[in-house]
Parts: sequence; structure tokens; C-alpha cells
Amino acid sequence: MLLAAVFSAAVLAAGAATSSPGAEASTAPLPACRTGDVLSPWRSLAQYRVTILDRWYRLPSTYVPPLRSVSAAGFSSGYAVRREVITDLAAMRAAAARAGARLGIISAYRSYLTQRWTYAKWVRVLGASRAAISSARAGHSEHQLGTAIDFTIPGASAPWGYSDWARTRAGAWLKANAWRYGFVMSYPANRLSVTCYGYEPWHYRWVGREIAARMHGSGLAPRPWLWRHGAEYAWPAPTPAPTPIPEATPTPAPTPEAAATPEATPTPEAVGPPDATSSPATSPDPEPTTTPATTSDPGATTPPEATTAPDATPAPDVTPTP
Ligand SMILES: [Zn+2]
Repeated sequence: MLLAAVFSAAVLAAGAATSSPGAEASTAPLPACRTGDVLSPWRSLAQYRVTILDRWYRLPSTYVPPLRSVSAAGFSSGYAVRREVITDLAAMRAAAARAGARLGIISAYRSYLTQRWTYAKWVRVLGASRAAISSARAGHSEHQLGTAIDFTIPGASAPWGYSDWARTRAGAWLKANAWRYGFVMSYPANRLSVTCYGYEPWHYRWVGREIAARMHGSGLAPRPWLWRHGAEYAWPAPTPAPTPIPEATPTPAPTPEAAATPEATPTPEAVGPPDATSSPATSPDPEPTTTPATTSDPGATTPPEATTAPDATPAPDVTPTP
């Protein structure tokens, strides 16, 4: 915990220097849920752990994360997730199985185009107003990040067919333990006013273990937590590596003195106590995963954008659930 605090403080310090859109998010109050199409402040591929998506903020239609099949985590379904998720997903699946909870996956990464189709389907099934709080319009879905997964129970009916899937063995286990593996329930019960979507006990988003632990400890739902703390993780620390130490000061300044002091006199060195020698100076390199974001799948043809015209009716549909 202390380490986490130190680390995030360091990242915060690094990030604070960078003036960037989204900086106001940590200080301004959480916006009310409203419908719109504004690009999310932290939407680069590298900011995926804290990208805020709701009915207002969205991803670019061209956003495609580096993907890997969930079969790499031991699942038989053909879905894909962002590759960074695989290790924790595999560990979580194994831990759940040991506890007698079998996990399956009923949806994971969805492209912008797939989401457009998905949302249109829910509008047909539920009507526009209910679809608005049950499904996300294209660009607004966490599934496009590649980090959201809809879990299910293998062989059972879809989780949304249950009155409360969190009461199943798998659902209950996830609700209690998913955070330990870096996953958080994006849309918990009775939080519609801050999450902007209805209760979805099957929908989890991977944010990494450190952020998940902090969210869990805070008691906040992901959206309000990200709004308040996301900035701490939105900007990777500036790579400390290439600092070209100005060693032999080639300054032409006629400073007479400073004659290249021979520095660390290579004396035969009075070898100190035997123990304290070996430590090879652990490099203080916090450096959060500098993924070069190799956008695999170039085939994601950019769609003609705003075609799905009817576009979720304005606002009167914000019926806050009981
Ligand atoms: Zn989902």
C-alpha cells in the first residue's frame, strides 16, 4: 500500500507537469450522466487503464488495441482481449475454478463496428430509452478498449437472463474476488446516477491490480473513481533512461579551476563487509509498461462515423433505477 502510494505520487508528480486535456477531471465534480459524443480525455492506447467511457465520452472509431485470444488464458471461446489482460485473466480463472466457480466468457473485445451492430440490436429488443442505459453506443463501450469482459457460466443461459447474476456461484465469486486480479465491476447495483448504466454484474473491466485495489478500497464505482484519480495514471512517467549525463563538461568557458577532477579515485578499495557488496544497485526504474502499442489488426476499416442516426433519444430516458 505504501509502495503504491509512493508510486502514484511519483506518477502524479510526473503527470502534473504535463498540461493536457483531462487535467480538470481530478478537480471538477463528476459530471451528471448525459448523452453526447465527446472524445474521452484519456483515449490513447497507452492510457487504457483509466480511459473514461460513458454516455458522453467515447473512443475514436479507429481505436483498436493490441489483442490476444482468451484461449491463452485457458478459455475455450474465441473472444479476444487486450494482451496485457491475459496473465491476470488466467490467474483469476484458475483461482475461481479452485473455489468451485467455473467462469466462461460471453463477450470481450468488440470493435466500433460490432458495437454499432450490438447497440442497434438492443434498441430493437428493448426500445431506445432502455437501450440507452443497458448498452453503449458505438465508441462509448468499454468493450472497444479490449479490457472489458462479460462473464458467464459455461453451459448456462446468458447472465442477463438472471434476476441477479451476482448471486450465482460464479457471479458471487467474481464480485468478491475479481479486484484481486485487477478486474472491477463497472456497473454495480444502484449506482446508475454515477455509472450512467444499469446494473451489470457480469461486466468487468481490467484496470490492473494496483488501480483495482485502490478502487475496491475506496468503495467508489469505477467512473467516479477514474474521474477523481485517473490523472495519476494517465501519463506515463517521462522515460528517465536517456538522460545523457554531461560528464566531461566540455564547456569552453575559461574556468581555470575545475580541472577534470579524477573523481572516484580508483583506490584498491577497502573492501567493506562481505554482505553489503553484492547489491547491483537496483535501478529505480518505475517505468510503467512502455508498450509500443503495436496496433495489430489494421483491417479495422474506419466506418463512416455518424450513420446510426436516430441516436439515443436526448435525455428524458434517464430513469434512475429504484
Ligand atoms: Zn459488457
